[in-house]
Amino acid sequence: SGKTEVYMQAIGKLLDMGKCAIVLVPEISLTPQTVFRFASRFGKRVTVLHSKLTPGERYDQWRRIKSGDADIVVGARSAIFAPVKNLGLIVIDEEHETSYKQEDSPRYHARDVAIKRAELTNAVVVLGSATPSLESFYKANRKEYRLLTLPQRVDNAKMPIVEVVDMRTELMQKKNRSIFSKSLQTAIEDRLAREEQIILFLNRRGFSTFILCRECGYVAKCRNCDISLTYHSRGEMMVCHHCNFRQPIPSLCPNCKGNYIKYFGVGTQRVEEEVRKLFPEASIDRMDVDTTTSKGAYKRILEAFKEREIDILIGTQMIAKGLDFPNVTLVGVISADTALNLPDFRSGERTFNLLTQVAGRSGRGQVSGEVVIQTYNPQHFSILSAQDQDYRSFYRQEIVNREMLLYPPFTHFARIILRGLSEEATIKASETLGEILRSYQEANYPELEILGPAPAVLARIKKYYRWNILLKSTDPLEIRGLIKMAFAKLPSQITKGEVAYAIDMDPISVL
Ligand SMILES: [Zn+2]
Ligand SMILES: [Zn+2]
Ligand SMILES: [Zn+2]
Repeated sequence: SGKTEVYMQAIGKLLDMGKCAIVLVPEISLTPQTVFRFASRFGKRVTVLHSKLTPGERYDQWRRIKSGDADIVVGARSAIFAPVKNLGLIVIDEEHETSYKQEDSPRYHARDVAIKRAELTNAVVVLGSATPSLESFYKANRKEYRLLTLPQRVDNAKMPIVEVVDMRTELMQKKNRSIFSKSLQTAIEDRLAREEQIILFLNRRGFSTFILCRECGYVAKCRNCDISLTYHSRGEMMVCHHCNFRQPIPSLCPNCKGNYIKYFGVGTQRVEEEVRKLFPEASIDRMDVDTTTSKGAYKRILEAFKEREIDILIGTQMIAKGLDFPNVTLVGVISADTALNLPDFRSGERTFNLLTQVAGRSGRGQVSGEVVIQTYNPQHFSILSAQDQDYRSFYRQEIVNREMLLYPPFTHFARIILRGLSEEATIKASETLGEILRSYQEANYPELEILGPAPAVLARIKKYYRWNILLKSTDPLEIRGLIKMAFAKLPSQITKGEVAYAIDMDPISVL
């Protein structure tokens, strides 16, 4: 795309000045075209660091970089540590991607490391994205970063036509109980008849079930945190995973008094069953974590789809990124609500990015594409802005929310995650740690806010129970100070080794 051309011209100038560059991409396997373009432009001066290198190959590359033999390093997040001499430029392509954050120890965000490293070496950082992270665009607006805008899509590809379907009227007016709206069904029939291909998209995070009114679209939210409450079968309760606020599930919708209020969640498997029932003649395949565990399965499905052996491909995030199939002219988003109602303050941003990305999969060839987004929240600005592919309109509304609710970029978060095989010990340790934190906080940092302890959204991973405590402050130094004080007095469950903990500064997800 146009961005890559800009990066390459900047690097060209830099090389003339005898300087070196690091180019970060979210995932090497998903960006073969970008890597290829760098390699063909700069030839042997480029080295590509990726996870498939053997230790020997990795060492060779490391030596080539260290000796100055290769002066352009392309790689995923850890390439930010490449021993480049004379660093002049760091490019972070698709800077909003969450894969730039390493989620286990050592936890770091490649963007933060890049900015620090550039500061130390007087290099320049270029962040590129069509949907920048709120944090970065906020800094650009405050003139902490310089904003450069590309006038239009350089490839001049036509934008797909995006239709938003109101699922409330499907049920109430059209008496349609299917997970497919009439519009989406008609669109699928139409493409099948023309032998064009279809992608049906569903958010992978179907595990968190929220409470939704199918008549009016009302979603139960926490009155403290404004995030969706999550359904727990135990005791038929709704729980806030930030602050542990709990409430029984209402039998009538508090908004419209209707009784179609229920927990909500659709899995890819259920979608596949229903597609097979509705379109028995079509060739259908599904791509998600369950169908791609065996080696090579991912490639095999994509290959078959490319060869047009599959009419309808059902999938999750895996198919949202980077794939380029010219014969796909219809993308259906089964439920935008699953992303919108993730119990995380970034759910609006995630939804906008996801829908924009998914929409980009349609109409990449000669025939123009169509996108159908199904939702119970057709008025939500994240969905409307995605429909218009209008980042600025999304940003203007989201940044106001963040400021009002004191979420990043207006505050900093730290997340303390506690995990243990015994649920009792994990809860006890979380509560004790919570009390210790609160006593120091009240005495030293009255402005700092402590949320929880509360069960993590992913309350159990691989037999480990997980609880978390969130610390929130406008000053990250206060957070560090408090953690230092409190962690000098760890709860006995932790010192005895029954419960482990991890601290995540500026988490990109609180799931
Ligand atoms: Zn809450
Ligand atoms: Zn209602
Ligand atoms: Zn839960």
